[in-house]
Amino acid sequence: MATVVIAGAGQAGYQTAAGLRQDGFDGRVVLVGDEPGLPYQRPPLSKTYLSGHVTADGVRLRGQEFFADNGIELVTGHRITGIDRAARRVRLDSGDVDYDHLVLALGACNRPLPVPGADLPGVVGLRTVAEADVLRDRLSSARDVVVVGAGFIGLEFASVARDAGVAVTVVEAKPRVLSRVVSEPTSEFFARLHSSRGVRLLLGTGVARVLGEERATGVETTDGSRIEADLVVVAIGVRPNTDLAEQAGLAVDDGVVVDEHLRTCDPAISAIGDCARFPTPHADAPVRLESVQNAIDQARCVSASLTGNARAYAAVPWFWSDQGSAKLQIAGLTTGHDRTIVRGDVDEGRFSVFCYRGKRLLGAESVSRAADHMAVRRLLTAEAPLDPEQAADPSFDLKSYSR
Ligand code: FAD
Repeated sequence: MATVVIAGAGQAGYQTAAGLRQDGFDGRVVLVGDEPGLPYQRPPLSKTYLSGHVTADGVRLRGQEFFADNGIELVTGHRITGIDRAARRVRLDSGDVDYDHLVLALGACNRPLPVPGADLPGVVGLRTVAEADVLRDRLSSARDVVVVGAGFIGLEFASVARDAGVAVTVVEAKPRVLSRVVSEPTSEFFARLHSSRGVRLLLGTGVARVLGEERATGVETTDGSRIEADLVVVAIGVRPNTDLAEQAGLAVDDGVVVDEHLRTCDPAISAIGDCARFPTPHADAPVRLESVQNAIDQARCVSASLTGNARAYAAVPWFWSDQGSAKLQIAGLTTGHDRTIVRGDVDEGRFSVFCYRGKRLLGAESVSRAADHMAVRRLLTAEAPLDPEQAADPSFDLKSYSR
């Protein structure tokens, strides 16, 4: 195969290019991204980069020389505007590029807050390094921040803002924090943690509008309260970047639809990372995941397949989030569980919540219990059973059992 074009130079795109070379691909590799500069990792943007502990160099995935040394043509600051499937060509604002295989690694973009005033200056999202730079700068002078959305990014931001001495109110429409992604015990732990750090949590409350004329001065909630703020951070989730795929006639369903080999309905096009919806043995229906693990493992799967080692994608999903002193690690996909078992000590902030559906372990959420997290990843990889009774028994040696 002569040319692989990778659309999107984020985590998954970079990893595909690197993986192709590691796997011995000797054709042309073109990595195209619309953001300026070198590919970078996003997780620090709401953690150590935001707090100023890591510099822009520290978040880059690789230096310029890596791309030159590996014969990867890196085209950044240019947007792909169309795909001509019949001609196997992508249209770029800087000229067209022909491909033999195209990998869509287009990521996602912030879901906009659908209320009046959401376009005022002072209303900021957190997806790109450019947005993180704005927030980092604003945090040094802000006194009051409203965070809309108590998901991972909203709470990580809240945590760093508290450390910076800023007063933080989190407004969340759902009745609990992290409700889409963790079980009730974990959710309650994080609500208590953030409250104890001085974050004001308004749960079951929506934002009706952003206040201000020339710039945001606060929000009005759906129950009519007004909260003053110098800065409004919107963290209400993302939309996968599927426009290109849709225009090209590929199947899209909240993500570019792919098969177990991560191929779209056009075998010359794969889709991976945040923009792809894929089948997995770890869930009953196809899923779209937003995690570094998923981006990296899917990239490896595609590079292996393009170099003659095709295998179905079956990696165990895992994720992490740092909030205050708590390090959360999630193994597996816990959505749809009907029973939880807690191991460890929630009050001490060192525990795991094992999530079951019937007798089947779907996954576990571990807070500062890395050994549990690793054990569950091994168990899910080996498809080894762990009875609820074993998980509930504090004397059961999970580490040895999982080896
Ligand atoms: P991205 O990294 O978003 O890359 C896609 C790239 O494609 C972008 O640069 C985009 O601009 C570009 N693009 C889009 N359209 C075009 C076009 N038409 N032409 C050219 N380029 C285009 N995950 C974890 O596991 N743990 C964490 O702690 C964690 N923290 C996070 C914190 C933040 C603030 C954010 C935003 C994400 C975090 N994530 C975390 C999620 C993780 O970073 C993503 O899942 C991962 O970056 C997905 O990689 P990707 O390559 O699919 O998408």
